[in-house]
Amino acid sequence: MERIADGLQLLRGTPRHAFNVYLADGYVVDAATRWARRRIIRQLAGERLAGHVITHAHADHQGASAALARELGLPILAGHADADAIASGDLRDRAPVNPLTRWQLRNWAGPAAPVATRLREGDRVGSFTVLETPGHAPGLISLWRESDRTLIAADVLFGQHPVTSRPGLHEPPARFTLDPALNRTQIRRLAALEPAVVCFGHGPPSRDPTALTRFAAGLPD
Ligand SMILES: [Zn+2]
Repeated sequence: MERIADGLQLLRGTPRHAFNVYLADGYVVDAATRWARRRIIRQLAGERLAGHVITHAHADHQGASAALARELGLPILAGHADADAIASGDLRDRAPVNPLTRWQLRNWAGPAAPVATRLREGDRVGSFTVLETPGHAPGLISLWRESDRTLIAADVLFGQHPVTSRPGLHEPPARFTLDPALNRTQIRRLAALEPAVVCFGHGPPSRDPTALTRFAAGLPD
């Protein structure tokens, strides 16, 4: 695992940073696709675990969630607006319907997973605070720690180009984003926090606060 900040680590994956899974104060944050179960469980061996947070109900974030919850005995925490989709395993209305998202549902999504805690704005996850940041998905949450300005932004922003994987800030692709305009308001909100480090669902962590400020300022309405 790669250390990002106090109590925050990024699990290894192949390709690197394609589907990020974090360990934050004992909480496993996201679970990539259903093919990631073994690589996640292997890297968590010996760790003291508290629960499993799913940032949003997309197939590349909840794929291995049911297996993790079952095999590691972890309670699942998720944003209240995506909790029913995660609990039922029916993710169809969480993203635009197109051939790509249909392919992802068929090939990446995991089965229904029980949600123990429905998170709301201001709830605590370890030393992090929950921010409700809907747009990319209706129930998407980010995790923010003011003390060292560490942000887990999930898919509000991509940390790499969605096709070339080159590091850099991007809006999540519209074909995977239910409400791009609403998501842009969340990008502005997160940029206004002036995070020192930003962690993404996809792409390497960014430690350049001015880049985020510039990016947010250049967005269309
Ligand atoms: Zn994603």
